[in-house]
Amino acid sequence: MADTVLGDPEKALLSKPWLPLGCSYCFTGSKAVIFVTGLCDDGCYYCPVSKDRLGSDVFFVNEEKLNMDEIEIEIERTNAEGASLTGGDPLIVPERTIEIIERLKSSFGSSFHIHLYTSGRYATREVLWNLYSSGLDEIRFHPTRNIFLNRIDWAVKIRGWSVGVEIPISANLESWAKKVIRYADEAGVNFVNLDEMEVSPSNIHELKARGLKPSMRKPVVESAFETGMKIVAWARKQALRVNVHFCPATYKDSIQTKNRFRRTSSADAKPYEELTVEGTLRYGVLRNCMDPVIKYDNEYVDGEHRVPPIRELVRNIARDHGCEGFIEEAYPTRNREPVIESTRIYP
Ligand code: SF4
Repeated sequence: MADTVLGDPEKALLSKPWLPLGCSYCFTGSKAVIFVTGLCDDGCYYCPVSKDRLGSDVFFVNEEKLNMDEIEIEIERTNAEGASLTGGDPLIVPERTIEIIERLKSSFGSSFHIHLYTSGRYATREVLWNLYSSGLDEIRFHPTRNIFLNRIDWAVKIRGWSVGVEIPISANLESWAKKVIRYADEAGVNFVNLDEMEVSPSNIHELKARGLKPSMRKPVVESAFETGMKIVAWARKQALRVNVHFCPATYKDSIQTKNRFRRTSSADAKPYEELTVEGTLRYGVLRNCMDPVIKYDNEYVDGEHRVPPIRELVRNIARDHGCEGFIEEAYPTRNREPVIESTRIYP
């Protein structure tokens, strides 16, 4: 782990015993997000998965649409210490999911922490056993129907892995969430995570149709935060054995994702790229040059015509070689796309 990536509060959080291990890794940005498939048969009205992914058998690692054979390369590029397997429902393609777990454990060792999300619909006893045997460390159920709750009991009976429940929360789901927490507690589940319900272009109409309003300040359902906090306070008074956590959406956006970008940028930055505090990368770029070959500091500039993001430098090279010069900021994806900001420097 690159020590410079984590601040002190983040390091301190890693030592909190109440936080599920999978969450601790996510907090520090050291988990790769593997979107195993967009296939899912649950049709939840609050599903935030984008329409170009949900329902299609697509495969992504973080923001990259990849082939299965490219997983290890992307894990190394992003300096990840673990992975979360999500979708869709990864258990709709159990052979693929198990192959991913086995490959990651074989390539990166048994300490490479892997957790998986599923509704439980396809979690037969055999599939659960195969997941455990392949090395899965943590399984999180999002029970979309009461008839799937018994899958949680089956998972708990397999000793040696962590079993959790993770559900979205909004005001209309308060009593259901309490029932799920009670069930999880009696089943012997390790933790329950309540996620502040997100609003996305793919679920906004369904949410509004149920009277759920988007917050004015951020892309979440209004009062979901207060409901989550209320349930956690209720859970504390119930003398439960299960740990109940509330996960605000801002935590995911402003901490988890930013830390993952910072970690990737630290590991993958080219010599001419500068890291920003947001975890993005800045660089100078020369386009439409009159000269086919460009030199800077007696070095030939590579085929992408990128140089350090120094205004004067970009201006001078652009002027001397008949180029357009820009300073750009981009996400640390393989292709540095999408570009977040592009500032014209010359002419
Ligand atoms: S189970 Fe998950 S992926 Fe499937 S529809 Fe529900 S929220 Fe979306």
